[in-house]
Amino acid sequence: MFILAVEDEPAMAELLDSALSDEGHQVSVATDGTQALGMAGANTFDLIVLDLMLPRMDGFAVARELRRRGIQTPVLVLTARDANADIVRALDSGADDYLTKPFSLEVFLARVRAVSRRGPIPQPVFLRVSDLTLDTSTREVSRAGKHVCLTPREYSVLELLMRHRGRVVSRSTIVEAVWGFDTDIEENTLDAYVRLLRNKIELPGAPRLIRTVRGIGYSLSEESS
Ligand code: CA
Repeated sequence: MFILAVEDEPAMAELLDSALSDEGHQVSVATDGTQALGMAGANTFDLIVLDLMLPRMDGFAVARELRRRGIQTPVLVLTARDANADIVRALDSGADDYLTKPFSLEVFLARVRAVSRRGPIPQPVFLRVSDLTLDTSTREVSRAGKHVCLTPREYSVLELLMRHRGRVVSRSTIVEAVWGFDTDIEENTLDAYVRLLRNKIELPGAPRLIRTVRGIGYSLSEESS
């Protein structure tokens, strides 16, 4: 794997580098938060090992900024702090796992293996139908270049329809995907959400994108009218 180790203490950085290299990984080292962000933006890593207390920009801010930029590389946080609040804050900032210093190398390498087993990182997807665009990494939607503000449920309905553009998506498929199997939503709840969604994304005078297929479901395509 290609691993970015972010650590400002030279002895610790050297230890991480040699332990990971011995396991056959390609290791790059960053010694502060700003450098780490630059390297993570310019290269694709399979894993980022991130110390929390760093010069210039701390690990919390680095993790948050990585996620904000849509970089989904797994992050394993190393922290000298064992306060629960710091661990919670690190995980909430976008870290996937953590290890409290001092740690045994064996445990560290096992965590690295565990994080890497979680499989391929989902790549952000940019969807476009006519002049309607949706960015799954930032969850931003725009129509004709203008930002559209959607609630989480409206966004989920729209993403599903855009992923299946040109095809009819059944009512039950939408309800299961957006509300889950267990929910018992009213028959007309979905219609109400679609109506709200249409009000936000349809432009007066422009062809309608979302088409109702009576008794079956909805479809989204450029050809709709
Ligand atoms: Ca440090």
